[in-house]
Amino acid sequence: MTLTTPIIVASYAEIALKGRNRPVFLRRLINNIRVALRQEAVKSIRHVESRLLIHLSDPQRAEAVVGKMRKVFGLQWVSSVVPVPRQDIGADLAGLSDVAAALAKRDCGSARHFKVDTRRSDRSFPFQSPEINRIVGTKVQEAIQLPARMHQPDFTLHILLLKENALVFSRKLTAHGGLPAGSGGRVMVLLSGGIDSPVAAWLMMKRGCHPEFVHFFSGRHQAEADLDKMQRLVTALLQYSPVPLNLFLVPVYAYEARAIGRIEEPYDMVMFRRFMVKTAALLARRTGCLGLVTGDSLGQVASQTLANMAAISSDLTLPIYRPLIGMDKYEITDIASAIETYKISIEPYRDCCSIRSPHPTLKAQAEDLLILSEDMELEDAVKEAVASSTQTVIGRGRVTAQEQ
Ligand code: ATP
Ligand code: MG
Repeated sequence: MTLTTPIIVASYAEIALKGRNRPVFLRRLINNIRVALRQEAVKSIRHVESRLLIHLSDPQRAEAVVGKMRKVFGLQWVSSVVPVPRQDIGADLAGLSDVAAALAKRDCGSARHFKVDTRRSDRSFPFQSPEINRIVGTKVQEAIQLPARMHQPDFTLHILLLKENALVFSRKLTAHGGLPAGSGGRVMVLLSGGIDSPVAAWLMMKRGCHPEFVHFFSGRHQAEADLDKMQRLVTALLQYSPVPLNLFLVPVYAYEARAIGRIEEPYDMVMFRRFMVKTAALLARRTGCLGLVTGDSLGQVASQTLANMAAISSDLTLPIYRPLIGMDKYEITDIASAIETYKISIEPYRDCCSIRSPHPTLKAQAEDLLILSEDMELEDAVKEAVASSTQTVIGRGRVTAQEQ
């Protein structure tokens, strides 16, 4: 009996809740899967009874393909499967049970208990799900000699009954859900070298947004930026994107040259934030982004008090999205680890915020910031910063630098 097959099944997530727009989302999802699997020999991707079935040429690639598909937003779970054609299931389910028992034997590892979990997509099938669980479960139990347990078993053997065949699988992997990349419009992400902003970017990507990235570095020339670290952070996020990603690098010299002697220490941090947000907004307009994204989490640092966040962007018409605002550092760190940005984020780097005053005001007033902005000609600093920015395109296997 061959248990390594070239067939993968995937279930989509929230798309299932979409009404008339569902075909549009599905088409995008299938396209994104095709892009994610472009190095693989894919024979077909079919939409069958609310599931996606992927046929590969090479069964040995099945697990690698499942790994790639897990990173496609819009999917709920993915698994390689063993199909049992309808005529081979057997009137007493003997054919199905044999496959289930063999698969359980291969995959149960050091499990202490198990269950069989059946979903019937084909309601006309002569057995109901609990009966199938019981009949097949008895055979599995004989094969692996473990007790059955309905609640949180170590090992679950899944059966999905479709019209044309039954799919048997045990390596079901949860994907990230969300909506397909490209379905949500464009956003400009303020990407620092820290832990939070890559997670903020990922959460917006998960809702279908395409991110553009902007990073501010202290100094005048690109050589002073930690380009390597920033590129690796964006490359980690590229795993979740079907298209190459843009990184704008902006020197903060234009701000610093004007702030010296004009902005007093307690206001430097909030004014610097204002400079970053305004510069990002100008880049956003030029690239068709409909919002800014930051990794702010309420109260985490001084610039993230409600008063300061309100004052910093009081005159900005572009929305600022802050997907981490209600999360604490542990929750954020857990996501960063899961999406493989954490290790890159904690590498040391010269943060242009850490060189600012350690005692910023906690309650900036919007009017004061507007006056200070006039005094230091912040608008000019923003235009100059955009003019001196550079752009790097980060795609699979290639990084190209472009001057603005
Ligand atoms: P992070 O881990 O993302 O650096 P943080 O907790 O260190 O977050 P701050 O340094 O106060 O917080 O930054 C808050 C947000 O401001 C960041 O999440 C990011 O969106 C933006 N930001 C900060 N520094 C930069 C920078 N150098 N370039 C671009 N955006 C930045
Ligand atoms: Mg930071």
